[in-house]
Amino acid sequence: MSEKRAYPFHCGSQYGDWVARNCFGCRLFDAEEFKGGCDIDGALGDALADDGSVSVEIGRRMGLPGNELAYTWDCPERQPGCYRCRPGEFGPEDGLCVACVKVAAST
Ligand code: SF4
Ligand SMILES: [Zn+2]
Repeated sequence: MSEKRAYPFHCGSQYGDWVARNCFGCRLFDAEEFKGGCDIDGALGDALADDGSVSVEIGRRMGLPGNELAYTWDCPERQPGCYRCRPGEFGPEDGLCVACVKVAAST
């Protein structure tokens, strides 16, 4: 019997808009490589190359709503910031990079 799968997106632009909503403001996302260093983005990359499906577990972790009408929604595993905030790589040991500190202060 085949494993039950979840289908998060109807089309590539919905996927792109979800990434823009979540990953562009996440420190796990590498804007230069245009990919996230997380299980969810890895699974979405596989989905893109396959039939668009992810495991039910990944669907749960990415906050896939039961509501079919939702176009985008929040990724529960998002870590606010950007790739420059990644500890030890571009940013401080912890906390946000200068640009994200400014964004946080203005919101
Ligand atoms: S944790 Fe969520 S928001 Fe962050 S890169 Fe992964 S999928 Fe995107
Ligand atoms: Zn940042």
